[in-house]
Amino acid sequence: MTTTEPEAISPGTATARFFVQVAIPSPLRSLFHYLPPKESCLSQLIPGVRVEVPFGRRKVVGVIVAIDRHCPVAEDKLKSVITLLDDLPVIQQPILALCRWTAHYYHYSLGETLSQALPKALRQGKATPSQTTTFWQLAAPVTESIKASLKRSHRQLEALCLLDNAEGEGLSESHLLESGINKTILRNLADKQLIACTEAITTARHFTQFTPICREPSLTLNHEQQFALDNILTHQNAFHPVLLDGITGSGKTEVYLQAIEACLKIKKQTLVLIPEIGLTPQTVNRFKKRFNTPVFSLHSGLSDGERLEGWQQAASKSAGIIIATRSGIFTPLPSLGLIIVDEEHDASYKQQDTLRYNARDLAIYRASQAKCPVILGSATPSLETYYNAISGRFGHLFLKKRAGQAAPPHMELIDLRQHSLTDGLSRDLLAQITVHLNKGNQVMVFLNRRGYAPSVICHECGTVIDCPHCDAHMTIHRQPPYMHCHHCDHKTAIPSHCPSCQSPNIQPAGQGTERTEQALTKLFPGYPVIRVDRDTTRKKHALAEMLKTINAGTPCILLGTQMLAKGHHFPSVTLVAILNADSGLFSADFRGLERTGQLTVQVAGRAGRSNKPGHVIIQSYNPEHPALQILANNNYTHFAEMLLKERTKLSLPPLTYLALIRTEATHTNDCERLLQQLRQVLEQVPTDPPIKLLGPIPAPMEKRQGRFRWQLMIQSSRRSMLHKVINHASYFLEQAKISRTVRWSIDIDPQDMN
Ligand code: ADP
Ligand code: ZN
Ligand code: ZN
Repeated sequence: MTTTEPEAISPGTATARFFVQVAIPSPLRSLFHYLPPKESCLSQLIPGVRVEVPFGRRKVVGVIVAIDRHCPVAEDKLKSVITLLDDLPVIQQPILALCRWTAHYYHYSLGETLSQALPKALRQGKATPSQTTTFWQLAAPVTESIKASLKRSHRQLEALCLLDNAEGEGLSESHLLESGINKTILRNLADKQLIACTEAITTARHFTQFTPICREPSLTLNHEQQFALDNILTHQNAFHPVLLDGITGSGKTEVYLQAIEACLKIKKQTLVLIPEIGLTPQTVNRFKKRFNTPVFSLHSGLSDGERLEGWQQAASKSAGIIIATRSGIFTPLPSLGLIIVDEEHDASYKQQDTLRYNARDLAIYRASQAKCPVILGSATPSLETYYNAISGRFGHLFLKKRAGQAAPPHMELIDLRQHSLTDGLSRDLLAQITVHLNKGNQVMVFLNRRGYAPSVICHECGTVIDCPHCDAHMTIHRQPPYMHCHHCDHKTAIPSHCPSCQSPNIQPAGQGTERTEQALTKLFPGYPVIRVDRDTTRKKHALAEMLKTINAGTPCILLGTQMLAKGHHFPSVTLVAILNADSGLFSADFRGLERTGQLTVQVAGRAGRSNKPGHVIIQSYNPEHPALQILANNNYTHFAEMLLKERTKLSLPPLTYLALIRTEATHTNDCERLLQQLRQVLEQVPTDPPIKLLGPIPAPMEKRQGRFRWQLMIQSSRRSMLHKVINHASYFLEQAKISRTVRWSIDIDPQDMN
């Protein structure tokens, strides 16, 4: 029998010479060439396979991205790959393409990008869990003379008899181990050529083998929902980005569920991205309840092993639906047929450090490569997506009515200038809370500040106690009592005297959730007050317990931060109160108002989601602010139009494109100097139309964690020009000497201007 030998490549021979291009997890954006490992074949060197390579004095895990016949480096300078870590690529081709695009777009190292795309265990070089099973079977019939020859080796004889009685492909090694036969016994028998083994691929059930697809019948869609679904399904085999612009409670999730069902019917997988799974176990449960096809959710609460398992279920097509947070965009899905980005406006889709990608934007790219629809769902679309939809780049589907029986809530603005307040609560609001509780309903009070009070002030000299490491006030907590900086995590005891004038007359100023909880508990002694914020939900299962109480439906007051605004469905809540709508109205960040509007509409959307009518009260010192007026009419589209006009006037995104270069150092001068030098370099880059450079200026919070921070903003009406300039910028920053003392980063499409 002849077999075709794979082409052997022995480095150094003149016949066939190949070089392996490897992406290495290092901030350097270049790729590195290595010689193939000794005794390797070309067929083993596949892009996407992990390798262990020498890098400086270390050994690191990299990923093969290409095989080259030419190498820019002299061959005697090259090192060899130490080992190939995989037989088959762990980074599949579409993920490699996605990572290449991501690294290029965000001006980031491909090695670091690939490393973020892998589950931690694989990033560290661990083996992929075995997908094969070893089977043992007889190599020859068991004769009496063989049995006699094994008279002194009882265990070997026992193993042989077990295999003699087995049918078909023999017995799996794990079965034999469980029966008390160890590997030495098997090896001894194999050496005597009495038994032999074969490897078989373990076939976990493929997601398409689960029938029926659904466990429960789907709902009958209303006209708007049906129209939306039909539109998505007519483009089932093509790249089709759509904004599903549906008010809260309009039944977007039901549209997702039926789109997924249709996708499963054509034997394709779905990726669902959601902002934060820990906060909304209800969402995941809705998917699991509907489908018989396996659903896997990937989120930060999983152990590394569980993450790897989910990743593998997706890669091996055991899972038909993957529900994941931001980093799930890199999940391998060989039969991808649909991507859903729920609450597409949510800021958590943008990673705020290292690789500053936006998973929503990556989802668009990924769908374009997979030639499948991508649904961006929101009641409060980001201006970027809204603009893409109205300008025709994305489809635009509307759900304007609430699904089922629910009607939109009644909105009311309360002018705080005309009311005396009890711990931040106006008299009218307190009266309404009483009315709703007496009717047996639940009330939700929203305040976006955790802790007891956001600052502590001296009534003698006016000193406000600041964090020694940041340009920020210390928040006071009472349960337990301490002062906490929410920006750098610095903690201290609560002082008894003013640090400036030693006066004992220091008082908390302003309202935090702890303080409001105390007030509400005193004012409504007959009702439980459930506080939901980062402090009360820190323990595992704490939030689940609270949600259980809330879902029991008995009257209570829910008090919380924006954690309460995200996607929850609380059918018994009829009154929602926003204690202070003003903080975001005058923000220095141009996105401040957009975020305030989204939060307001989302919070308001928690009211009256079933058949009881909802009421929303917004307290403000600026009720005449045009944005609040529009929001009080509960019309997000008008709000978005207003913002868009303003952004057009100021040439801000989505009308133009931005990049932010941030620097950080122990000396403020170093930050400024580096950016000043950079600015001079960038001014020389020819661009058409000319780009705008703004800065260097100190960041809104100049000092954080003891370091000073500056930024330079680059703005252009053409993306290609922006990228051209950023290419020059990253080259300069990588070379500049001063870069050694200054930490710098590039943020493309920044979401947070701080
Ligand atoms: P959204 O995702 O837009 O906030 P949901 O999908 O959660 O809205 O729907 C809100 C409520 O309306 C849910 O209780 C859901 O079961 C119900 N619902 C959705 N679509 C329908 C429908 N076609 N008929 C009846 N009830 C529906
Ligand atoms: Zn003082
Ligand atoms: Zn601090």
